[in-house]
Amino acid sequence: MDRGKSEVIFFPFRDDYTWEGVPTKNYKSPDNSWLGVLRNEIVKTDEIHYRYFEIQEGGYSSLEKHQHPHIVMALRGRGTVVVGSRVYEMAPYDVIHIPSWQPHQLLANRGDVFGFICVVPARRDRPTRLTKEEIEELIKENPELKHILRY
Ligand code: MN
Repeated sequence: MDRGKSEVIFFPFRDDYTWEGVPTKNYKSPDNSWLGVLRNEIVKTDEIHYRYFEIQEGGYSSLEKHQHPHIVMALRGRGTVVVGSRVYEMAPYDVIHIPSWQPHQLLANRGDVFGFICVVPARRDRPTRLTKEEIEELIKENPELKHILRY
């Protein structure tokens, strides 16, 4: 929902992890880099986009990098977040800041839907997918990633 800075916006939460007046959409254009990701763009102002994503069981976001940072707060279920070669387990209300240019991927844990708020600047660069070499480099740093990353 595109709104101006001076407008009060109130979206009541519903029990099913949606907000009144906010449509649920599939994430981005279809390619093979992500699976089972739903997107609710709760508030879009000139500065900030405040989105709720939900990754279905077995799903994952694109393994990507970009200049803009992410601020993520887990809200539903448990998920795994890879930032660079490090792995973070997230449960509701955990927060992570993913800095500029750090490769990252978010994945739903087994048996869980992983829902989270992700805040990004309104003006941001397009994500780039990692090259084969970059992925190999990450796995060299942390061999555990071989069993976590999806690409
Ligand atoms: Mn990203």
